[in-house]
Amino acid sequence: MQINRFGMIGLAVSASFLCTGLFAQGQPKVSAAAQRYLDEAKGLSQIGGYAAAMHRGVCSLAVRQQDPNSGIDTKDRSAIEPTQVFDNLYNVGDRDVGMWLINTSIGIIMIDANNSDDNARQVLLPQMQKLGLDPAQTKVIIVTHGHGDHYGAAEFFRKMSGAPIYMSKADWEMPVAPRTKTPYWSPKPKPDVIATDGQKITVGDATVTLYLTPGHTPGTVSVILPVKDHGVTRMAALWGGTGADSSNPNALKLYSGSLKHFTAVTKAANVEIELLAHPGLDDTIKREDAVRALKPGQQNPFLIGSENYQKYLTMMQDCIQARLANLEGQRTP
Ligand SMILES: [Zn+2]
Repeated sequence: MQINRFGMIGLAVSASFLCTGLFAQGQPKVSAAAQRYLDEAKGLSQIGGYAAAMHRGVCSLAVRQQDPNSGIDTKDRSAIEPTQVFDNLYNVGDRDVGMWLINTSIGIIMIDANNSDDNARQVLLPQMQKLGLDPAQTKVIIVTHGHGDHYGAAEFFRKMSGAPIYMSKADWEMPVAPRTKTPYWSPKPKPDVIATDGQKITVGDATVTLYLTPGHTPGTVSVILPVKDHGVTRMAALWGGTGADSSNPNALKLYSGSLKHFTAVTKAANVEIELLAHPGLDDTIKREDAVRALKPGQQNPFLIGSENYQKYLTMMQDCIQARLANLEGQRTP
């Protein structure tokens, strides 16, 4: 995440960005139309901890706005326990942002490359080593969007492996926003491959599909990927961006349209597994603790089922629609 006009500098701030404006001088002022969406979202958030966490992040009205230009960096970047989540899917990173790694028959598909060269050396490489993954065998690097916490180590891994970096045209071209007073990210990588909507990338026995889902940034990419769960192939999806500019109806409409698009393609692909880059927003860490303690026959907590995955996206859509309805209400008193 990074500060920009699409507004994400962290969980608390991302939440505030989506909710800012629902307050009028400190008092929540919610139109009846907006409240209906919020009520539905609240109901949908009960499907599981992953949804409740996302609901707290993107729907809660009880979040105070922070000044995105304050430069105060209060993120918890302590390393997570690197985890093999499915037969061929691994997660490394820190409590703020994670990387997903698909270990195919001929090498690794890397989804996001976090923060910086230093972060890669100090955290990501030792984590990969612990999991038995060779970063030199990375074949493809997919960057979900043009914020430093997602691209910061991409150049580092490209140099190590020769793997191409995929990012959308809009996000390759997106200017790098001013940093906070605590610079943390390595420079944006040199432009490489342009990711497009519906693009398939095959590495060995795995084919992932990229979708353009703008809203968090002008060219956020979301991914549908196959994972193996005790030898059974199931489809997983990673929503590429979370926060949206809550004061900008056009950005919200873009975000809403992307959710609609992703709802359709994940339904068609029978997505049953929910993944996200930011572990605090979908209970990733708690679920990974559970994965490492799974006993034979127990269900993987990332496997939520196709119906719940659709409900999860509907919940996010409700949050965006609530914001739009409220903006509309403010324009026509
Ligand atoms: Zn971001």
